Amino acid sequence: MLILISNDDGYFAPGLAALVEALRPLAELIVVAPETNRSGSSNSLTLDRPLSVRTAANGFLYVNGTPSDCVHVALTGLLDRRPDLVVSGINDGQNMGEDTLYSGTVAAATEGYLFGLPSIAFSQVSKGWTHLDAAAAAARSFVERFIASPLAAPSLLNVNIPNLPLSELKPPRVTRLGRRHPSEPVVRSSTPYGEPVYWIGPAGKAADATPGTDFHACADGAVSVTPLRFDLTHNAQLEPMREWIPTEWIGANR
Ligand code: MN
Repeated sequence: MLILISNDDGYFAPGLAALVEALRPLAELIVVAPETNRSGSSNSLTLDRPLSVRTAANGFLYVNGTPSDCVHVALTGLLDRRPDLVVSGINDGQNMGEDTLYSGTVAAATEGYLFGLPSIAFSQVSKGWTHLDAAAAAARSFVERFIASPLAAPSLLNVNIPNLPLSELKPPRVTRLGRRHPSEPVVRSSTPYGEPVYWIGPAGKAADATPGTDFHACADGAVSVTPLRFDLTHNAQLEPMREWIPTEWIGANR
């Protein structure tokens, strides 16, 4: 069993170190993580320059690119064999609802999933690493479960873990993604040279945190696990769209 581990907070992040320590007894591990904090980088790949892979003193490999770059490079040439599982995290902060579209933590796992590998993203709900040991233990229990009973279908799991001591952490609930309000406004400021700058504000508050959502489970102190997929087709709109296209249209006759 070989597990590829990445994150988006950078190779030096406490959440990554805790995850590695928790999983070390379970499998052979290889860490390929970004050189800097690339939170919010989504699924971006670096295409305008080559990437370097360097080795930290603790053996972690780090890449001057995005989380997706890390997993992509690992799976397409860096590793001499295919991992059995890709794990990302533990992120400093929640990835619930629409966060999943922006998240580099989820993106690192998604990159594994797109290459046909089972993948799990782990995030702590609140920033600051409180009760990181409990989050690491929860992550370990997911990986133990996966090793004991691999999922049949290709799977991409998004796991959010409340910052609670292990004794207070409720067992995993399978959830759907909730919804957020739009992000808070940008912070407008200026450089010392008078140029206006805009700092993108934090994510919006939960808009759908009803029972069954990731928001609801975590607010109740439970670990949330949401299976994700990446077919963005809006199937219910296919037929209305066909009707929306006018019968008279430029170009070739029908
Ligand atoms: Mn992050």
